[in-house]
Amino acid sequence: MGTRKWLDSEVTVLPGVGESRRKLLTKLGLRTVGDVLYSFPRTYKDFTRVLSPAQIREEGEYLISGELVDLTERPVSGGRRIVQASLYGDGSYARLTWFLVHRGRGFTYIYNRLQKAQRLWVFGHAKRALVEWEMNSPEFFLRPPQLGLTPVYPLVSGITNRMRISWAEFALKHLDEIYECLPSHLAARYGDRHQALRDIHFPSSWEALDKARTRLVFEEFFLFHLGLQFGAAQRDGFAHRPDGLLVKRFLGGLPFQLTTGQLKAIADVRRDMESTTQMARLVQGEVGSGKTVVAQYAAVKAVESGGQVAVMVPTEVLARQMADRFRQAFQQIGIEIELLVGNLPRKRRDEILDRLRSGTLQVVVGTHALITDDVSFRNLTLAIVDEQHRFGVEQRQALGRDAAADMLVMSATPIPRSLALTLYGDLDVSTIRELPAGRKPVDTRLIHPSQRDQVYTFVTRRVKQGEQAFVVFPLVEESDKVDLKAAVQEMERLKAGPLKSVRVGLVHGQMGREKDEILEAFYRHELDVLVATTVIEVGMNIPRATVMVIENADRFGLAQLHQLRGRVGRGDKQGYCFLIADLKTETVRTRLNAIRRSNDGFLIAEADLKLRGPGDLLGLRQSGQPLFLIGDIVADQELLQLAAEEARALLQQDPHLAEYPTLRSELNRQRPAV
Ligand code: ADP
Ligand code: MG
Repeated sequence: MGTRKWLDSEVTVLPGVGESRRKLLTKLGLRTVGDVLYSFPRTYKDFTRVLSPAQIREEGEYLISGELVDLTERPVSGGRRIVQASLYGDGSYARLTWFLVHRGRGFTYIYNRLQKAQRLWVFGHAKRALVEWEMNSPEFFLRPPQLGLTPVYPLVSGITNRMRISWAEFALKHLDEIYECLPSHLAARYGDRHQALRDIHFPSSWEALDKARTRLVFEEFFLFHLGLQFGAAQRDGFAHRPDGLLVKRFLGGLPFQLTTGQLKAIADVRRDMESTTQMARLVQGEVGSGKTVVAQYAAVKAVESGGQVAVMVPTEVLARQMADRFRQAFQQIGIEIELLVGNLPRKRRDEILDRLRSGTLQVVVGTHALITDDVSFRNLTLAIVDEQHRFGVEQRQALGRDAAADMLVMSATPIPRSLALTLYGDLDVSTIRELPAGRKPVDTRLIHPSQRDQVYTFVTRRVKQGEQAFVVFPLVEESDKVDLKAAVQEMERLKAGPLKSVRVGLVHGQMGREKDEILEAFYRHELDVLVATTVIEVGMNIPRATVMVIENADRFGLAQLHQLRGRVGRGDKQGYCFLIADLKTETVRTRLNAIRRSNDGFLIAEADLKLRGPGDLLGLRQSGQPLFLIGDIVADQELLQLAAEEARALLQQDPHLAEYPTLRSELNRQRPAV
């Protein structure tokens, strides 16, 4: 990757940028001239036409021009002045007003400048007054301004739009240091890169802007997907043998009939695992849709082919549960399971590591501990990652790093297609849409806080029948001490009051080891009710749990509520979910009703994406980093999809991008945001 003389230079080469402005530009994320080139306007002012006051038909932003009349200036309270004037043209007037702070003597600067003018051009928001149009604090020009669309850039105090315009112009002078990066058939379809960059800053028309934006959004998505898929593309993998006796015994021994979705997912996995290329598959499905069986099938298949299997889950508690479930399922077919988590006794850990190295242990379930350096396998042929969105792409890929192990990712978060493409663009997807037959949808109710006691009476009654319940309190920020304290107080109150006759465990995210002990006690049914902050959101499988109470339900996102609700009703008993919230506003009511009515996680996730944007779903909200510079994964969904497909097609044809050196160097420049 060659360096670029101007575009890779620091912003201090820009006219008028010294040390202090350099610092200000850093705040805007601009370090080099290339950054300036790729920092696009926030919006544009429409200077494409000049109207006379008579031509304005409706409220909006306009550039108007006319004869300047009735110029006045008068003081108002607080050392402020009002400058007023009218524009006259074609028999109509527009009234202009500027409010100014001016403590000096004499007239204001604006008044003095306007006084010299006969004709005036102004740009601003026209509002209807009684008989004429009025504009407050419009921008004005004594001579006709340049026509077109004027860019409006993100600013910080000390940096003006005028400066940004001149710096963008400067950067555009060095476009020759940028090459077309798209393959020619795509450049032909989406437009030329130089043209797009010129037009995104200084478009001559809305159409030109639209075209430029499309090209740049496509470019961004395309490079993102190419980056995502580049490393993972079509590596040689282990070809597992066709299903034999062991697999048949496993499937034959299942205590239930597989659903259509499960059968389809299993068929996908079978095909992938038997092929000579590496599997990279996501099994996506509703909470409780039965993804674990698919993972177990894959594991048995790998073992039957003489391979080893690693199953990675996000927390120790979940790892324990998962190990238990695998152990149970594999008991009668004689496959052994071990658990590898962070703080095992040294001896135990060494023993497991030895057995993985020598190949005498076939299946290991664990946490991040599985991707530390001292873990190595004799013949790892399958890596399973559960609840993937808790891990980054890199961690996921690290699990299969040396071996060309097949990769199976399971996600219980139903995510809309656009997001799936973004997060899992490098994976093939199998979706299990239906729940196992006979599963009753969770009975969901909205409860006003004043009826809270009835809910806890209900909980107590269920518990006395041997069932279990969750109570969840929201925390805005797990790290916020005040918020945490309030939640803990409420939880204690509940424990001492309405729930005092049952066994209650209380957990929150900042607890450390004690938390795991409580979760496990609940899992073993030594506790009846688990009162928690959202730490129980992912993956707990407790068939005996039938009631979920969510306090301050309005503070959760829809997808989150749906996830929480999925923790109950996993056995054959009817599940209940109580959403306690003061339905004071219309939006709260609408949102909570959506969750009450629908049990389809995909629909809910789509709704959530529209209501709250992708940050929440991606867990990126805290970082505040938008995923893409210009692309919007909701509004530009179609382009996202096209870009993903084009990236895939290109890599199929040229896996190492040997024919596309500019594309390769562009990839090195970009860093995928996820
Ligand atoms: P997921 O991981 O998709 O949330 P699980 O695999 O944990 O779901 O399955 C939830 C429960 O449903 C488990 O207790 C499992 O044994 C059971 N189950 C899975 N598949 C079926 C099926 N086809 N019919 C009935 N029960 C099933
Ligand atoms: Mg699961």
